[in-house]
Amino acid sequence: MLSVHKIEKFSKEFETKTPQEIIEWAVDRFSPYMAMSSSFQTQSMPLLHMVVHIAPETPIFFINTGYHFWETLMFREKMADEWKLNIIDLYRDSRWDLFARQNIRSLPLKDPNLCCYLHKVEPMQNALKGYKAWISGIRRDQTSVRAQANFLEIQKDGLLKINPLLNWKREDVNRYIEEHNLPHHPLYEKGYRSVGCAPCTIAIGENDNERAGRWAGRGKVECGLHTGMFSRKNISESQSEFQIDVTKVDHV
Ligand code: SF4
Repeated sequence: MLSVHKIEKFSKEFETKTPQEIIEWAVDRFSPYMAMSSSFQTQSMPLLHMVVHIAPETPIFFINTGYHFWETLMFREKMADEWKLNIIDLYRDSRWDLFARQNIRSLPLKDPNLCCYLHKVEPMQNALKGYKAWISGIRRDQTSVRAQANFLEIQKDGLLKINPLLNWKREDVNRYIEEHNLPHHPLYEKGYRSVGCAPCTIAIGENDNERAGRWAGRGKVECGLHTGMFSRKNISESQSEFQIDVTKVDHV
């Protein structure tokens, strides 16, 4: 068991380690109680490539929100087949089904925080029960929230989040993709450099920030997987325009 002091110590040491060294450390300590998540975007490919080469049996969580581009789902299938990935698809809890179906068109636009919570955050919270560590591909150069992240982050429930690519820049990602001849997401060449759900993603210009096309113009930059929102066990404190009463939805 790692103490908070040791986590801070390792986290500082990892500032000068390569992503592969950090992944090897994590595999030695936590496998098989360790999973990674991937959204199968072009910039996700380097971390996926590294983890699959170091520990091919690692469970890879793919959050299937139901709002993905068709191209993302096809790319996920192709990579699963070619790299023999151990993918686990995550779906929203069934107690949300009636509400989600009734609001399928309006929810991403009217209350994206609630939409991300029930389609992404809660499924990931549930999936990680029973695991000790979670490898994520966030980088400090992506958003102001991610700029504050550490290589190791212990969450309130004891789960350790490991961010091996934290110090990488966009150029490092591109260099690795080129060196290893990794495939691109089919929408990448059309200007979708960060690909999320279809209602919340637009194409961007070459010089825009990589994530500028996510929730563009809507004052939202994160889905909640990489913020304090992730640790919450329910949505009672959320700013939901739909004013959902979770206890009622539980009985749907
Ligand atoms: S990214 Fe958009 S569609 Fe996807 S879960 Fe979040 S709000 Fe909903």
